[in-house]
Amino acid sequence: MTVIRSNVLGFCMGVRRAVAMAAEEAARVKDSGGRVFTLGPLIHNPEVLDDLKIRGVEELSGQEENIKGNSLIIRAHGVAPQLEIGLRDRGAHILDATCPKVKASQLKAEELARAGYGLFLAGEAHHAEIEGIFGYVQSCNPVFCAVVDNAADAGKEAKKLYKINSDTKTALLGQTTISEELYRAIGKAVGMFFPNLEIIQTICASSKERQQAIRDLLNEVDAVIIAGGKKSANTNRLMEIAKESGKPCVLVEKAGEIPVEFYSYETVGLSAGASTPDSVIEEIELELMR
Ligand code: SF4
Repeated sequence: MTVIRSNVLGFCMGVRRAVAMAAEEAARVKDSGGRVFTLGPLIHNPEVLDDLKIRGVEELSGQEENIKGNSLIIRAHGVAPQLEIGLRDRGAHILDATCPKVKASQLKAEELARAGYGLFLAGEAHHAEIEGIFGYVQSCNPVFCAVVDNAADAGKEAKKLYKINSDTKTALLGQTTISEELYRAIGKAVGMFFPNLEIIQTICASSKERQQAIRDLLNEVDAVIIAGGKKSANTNRLMEIAKESGKPCVLVEKAGEIPVEFYSYETVGLSAGASTPDSVIEEIELELMR
């Protein structure tokens, strides 16, 4: 069997930075008895989380009373400023691992809200990244802010705002991992009511490059394996693209999950989500070639 790796796969810059920051902080406080917490899972990959746990990085959930005097890592997805301030007030030593690209979206949304724009946020309402950006917008009493995850709802929300004030300046920002097609469709739906809608480019190039690379890869292989966390949005997006090709595809978190039929293909493509460590990619590749 031949295994062909996607040209772009695995950890993106934001995730690599957050994982390194957590590991470095754990090493720094190790001898002083300090603890290192993360606000939610640092990344959507159980193997990486287990490794971090061994190094002393714990998820805060359920032990908020222990935060005082200890380190708290903000994930690459970022958080709402209200939440960050609350944790700081409770004595947490905050380390901000918000991805610089997400930080740019947060600050842009805040700037536009302050300037009186009606805002549309394209993405999943309960995704940490969107919750964080929404928090930045809310902190400046926006004239309007709607989170939408499809064109039909975007149109309904735009109509609502149009009825209140058809002259409002409007802007659209999106979750960094949203698909270009969906972002365009949402922009078009809002643009029916607000032709001067400012569409801010917030889609992360890293996701786009990974998505394009798997499209290219699908032309060369009989089947494809996507390595990554089953709850990871960007990994699931890769899986959707693979499924659209009609070729056999599977999402696995570790080598042991590879379905038996994948060993019988002549050429298997291998891609991986942004939160998949190099070690897992290598393990899967070696397993296929055994
Ligand atoms: S996918 Fe892009 S925006 Fe998200 S953490 Fe990675 S580099 Fe940052």
